[in-house]
Amino acid sequence: MASQELIRKLEKTIENIPDFPIPGIQFKDISPIFLDSKLYEEVIADLAAASRGKVDAVCGIESRGYLFGIAIAVALEVPFILIRKAGKLPPPVISEKYDLEYGSAVIETREGQIKAGQKVLIHDDLLATGGTTEAAARLVEKQGATVAQFSFLIALTGLKGEEKLKKFNAEVYHILEY
Ligand code: AMP
Repeated sequence: MASQELIRKLEKTIENIPDFPIPGIQFKDISPIFLDSKLYEEVIADLAAASRGKVDAVCGIESRGYLFGIAIAVALEVPFILIRKAGKLPPPVISEKYDLEYGSAVIETREGQIKAGQKVLIHDDLLATGGTTEAAARLVEKQGATVAQFSFLIALTGLKGEEKLKKFNAEVYHILEY
């Protein structure tokens, strides 16, 4: 559970940009966090504490999931695995297709980086509809590993992303919710 002080600092720091990138979306811009190295350290300490002793690998979702994910893995002294959009990682890769509002998308990891039996943390900066995270979890399970936890800096609770993740029986941790 993040401290009220950290929550308050983040609420002041994260910018809400209405109608970006399309009308109706309240875009949460986390980039001001990186202007304050002390605040960034506090965020990593909180996210790492939430996962300590529970996971033995961290998967970060491209691209903002990398901004915190690698630092969480370093703090926990466990491997970090990149989950990327299709076509960015060299072969051999393991892929998972998922539906978007219009059409579909594919995410991938390098084959062999996730090990069977591992307890994995899937991390992204923000949980919205949960579509991307759900596909990431399927990608992890396809490789014989288990999703032990999901973590996010922000959860947009109105979009019901957490409900999509229930089937994985994993803890869902977030610092802020809107
Ligand atoms: P979803 O698959 O709908 O849960 O979307 C999650 C991904 O989209 C995350 O990687 C976010 O970085 C990005 N995203 C979705 N909605 C927003 C938003 N309102 N503000 C900032 N990023 C968002």
